[in-house]
Amino acid sequence: MLNVLILGVGQCGNRILDAVNKEAMGGGGASKIAKYCLKPKFPSRVETVAINTAINDLKELRYTTAKDRLHVPNLHGMGANRNVGKQAFMDNRDSIMGEIEKRGDFDIAFVLTSTSGGTGSSFSPLLINELKRQYPNITVVTVAILPFREEGSIYLQNAAFSMRELMELDADGIILADNQYMKRFSGDIASAYDKINSTIAKRLLFLIESLDSEMLSVTDLGDFKTVMNGGLRIGTMGYYQADGKNNSVKDAIENSLKPNNLLYPANVADDAARAMVIIQGSREHLDVDQITKEVEKITASAGHVFKGIVVKKGHPRVLSVFTLAAAPELESIYAQAARGMQDEKEKRSRARKQLDDAFAHIEDLEEIY
Ligand code: GDP
Repeated sequence: MLNVLILGVGQCGNRILDAVNKEAMGGGGASKIAKYCLKPKFPSRVETVAINTAINDLKELRYTTAKDRLHVPNLHGMGANRNVGKQAFMDNRDSIMGEIEKRGDFDIAFVLTSTSGGTGSSFSPLLINELKRQYPNITVVTVAILPFREEGSIYLQNAAFSMRELMELDADGIILADNQYMKRFSGDIASAYDKINSTIAKRLLFLIESLDSEMLSVTDLGDFKTVMNGGLRIGTMGYYQADGKNNSVKDAIENSLKPNNLLYPANVADDAARAMVIIQGSREHLDVDQITKEVEKITASAGHVFKGIVVKKGHPRVLSVFTLAAAPELESIYAQAARGMQDEKEKRSRARKQLDDAFAHIEDLEEIY
């Protein structure tokens, strides 16, 4: 059995973790006392911890038990300042790691975080470093959320710098989810968040469940690691669930890779480096020849594709995880972040000059009373 740790860091990470716990409980509503007696049903041994400096963000969670909420004290908040965040992590490192250690040993950790706020974006790279240091055999995969592009220059700047830190870590890859790209789910932000969070949560649970299942064709943690190590070590996930109208497993695999079903804009045909395709469904829907042909098609563009087949009652469901050899959308985020920072720098020096010019008027004068 896999030992899985899921850490949600900062508000966004906390909320996605809450969505994971909600899905693991069957997706239903939670009562007021739920946080004291919840017992999510995970397929593996899964421990979850929501970590935050903002106590109100932790209070807002509905499906994460009180004992799995870790408040890291920080007197004045982060103000989206990653330097303050890094200091807060270092000041509290031992207690944070102690909370994790209490939960035993793990094969894999998923760290869920936004890249653009103050807490998650500054804590996560340091936290992942500590996990790798303290658990030499652990696989650590980050699920990193990119901001809406119109959220402002500080968020974009944070995303640029925290992504660079995450990419430079000696960890096991990053799964990207892009708020901007998934904005299409909904008109207003609050319901877009809910939809985005549950979309990510469902895919993560499917992945965990599959890695721990008896498969007809085997994919396991080792294969997942190999996929995440491909290309830039940055990837994303696609998912498709067939309905009664069309049970074709071939169509389900194709659909799982269509732009509409991805968490981040990627051109799988041109840019995938390695992939893993996991198919679940009733035995009568799982035509192994069709599956093999479809996987061979993907292999023609992606270097290597692992396939996993899990016999489970229902219409075909397909999860595709892949890493990328190119990520043009990331480059455009860096360009936009740099423009924003440059604009701010110029505005500041213009304002400073204006102020200096104003002071110059009274340079040789004394106060007269
Ligand atoms: P932190 O608590 O200081 O780490 O800051 P946040 O996690 O709130 O980071 C801000 C970024 O996270 C912004 O880009 C938000 O759009 C995004 N964000 C905040 N809450 C959610 C959420 O529930 N779901 C998603 N997908 N993004 C969120």
